[in-house]
Amino acid sequence: MKDEAKKEILLVALGGNALIRKGQVGTAEEQFENLKVPIRHVARLSKHYRIIITHGNGPQVGNLLLQQECCEEVPRLPLEILVAQTQGQIGYMIESTLDSELMELGIDTQKPLVSLISYVVVDERDPAFRNPSKPIGPVYTEEKAATLPYPTRKTARGYQRLVASPRPITIVEKREITKLIEVGFIIICCGGGGIPVIREGRTFYGVNAVIDKDLASARLAEEVGVDIFLIATDVEGVALSYGQPDQKYLRTITLEEAARYLKEGHFPPGSMGPKIRAAIEFLQCGGNRAVIASIEAIEEAVAGKAGTELIRGAHITESIK
Ligand code: ADP
Ligand code: MG
Repeated sequence: MKDEAKKEILLVALGGNALIRKGQVGTAEEQFENLKVPIRHVARLSKHYRIIITHGNGPQVGNLLLQQECCEEVPRLPLEILVAQTQGQIGYMIESTLDSELMELGIDTQKPLVSLISYVVVDERDPAFRNPSKPIGPVYTEEKAATLPYPTRKTARGYQRLVASPRPITIVEKREITKLIEVGFIIICCGGGGIPVIREGRTFYGVNAVIDKDLASARLAEEVGVDIFLIATDVEGVALSYGQPDQKYLRTITLEEAARYLKEGHFPPGSMGPKIRAAIEFLQCGGNRAVIASIEAIEEAVAGKAGTELIRGAHITESIK
């Protein structure tokens, strides 16, 4: 095993779909089972890289919101507390799965791991607060939606609550995370994009919002000096004309091409858009490599053999198929 301090730092951002696949209800068994493949990849990669894991929480926070609505006796909790809950539950699931995988590889004793409740500072003047646009949680009928105390929008699934999705400014625990990496910990942090907080003097207040986990991961990557930023999701990479007959997955894409395709609408705001933005920001802030790949191909993607890699400089787009 290489000297820890000389190893590159790899950040793996796991999509919410890594835990609850489309069509599943999200039992604990399903989530543990779904985690095995990506976490096995991460465990093997930890021999060669220092590792940070971040994760989404869309389906999990949606289920917590639904649970709250199903019960009148227990007080409803604000969104930032639900985000904190999902950091706990998902952190636990990732941690215990990773622990087993490291044990199988026989490297558990050299790899301490920890999951960290993480705050992410947002700006209270962020325009997102005046224009909540992120649909989350249970699906309502039009009649029910009209009676709710918060804004809603018709989505492909039905009417959903809209919340603000402000930009992440800084990760509050960045120094702790940097220190933990230095001493060899695998860290699970910034779950669900982090608990959104605003700063008043030296105090932080949670706010009713959700931060995009890809953008928060990019911020974290910049702040702790990550070398490779891998966004693991439920498709094999970035496609042009996604879902259309002429769909084409890309092997590499330049920053300029990515910005242009984003403008042309190839990468929608709620899904591929933030991944592309996050990858662009990471490279623009000096990161080495940004790759978007399937959760089933994490190791191959790190090796440059799968997924879509964002690259600097001019070049002609090459497609996978
Ligand atoms: P995650 O939970 O990993 O963040 P998302 O659902 O937010 O997953 O984003 C991944 C989804 O993005 C894919 O399942 C796919 O349906 C969608 N998508 C939209 N546009 C594209 C595109 N151009 N290329 C690939 N996938 C795309
Ligand atoms: Mg997403």
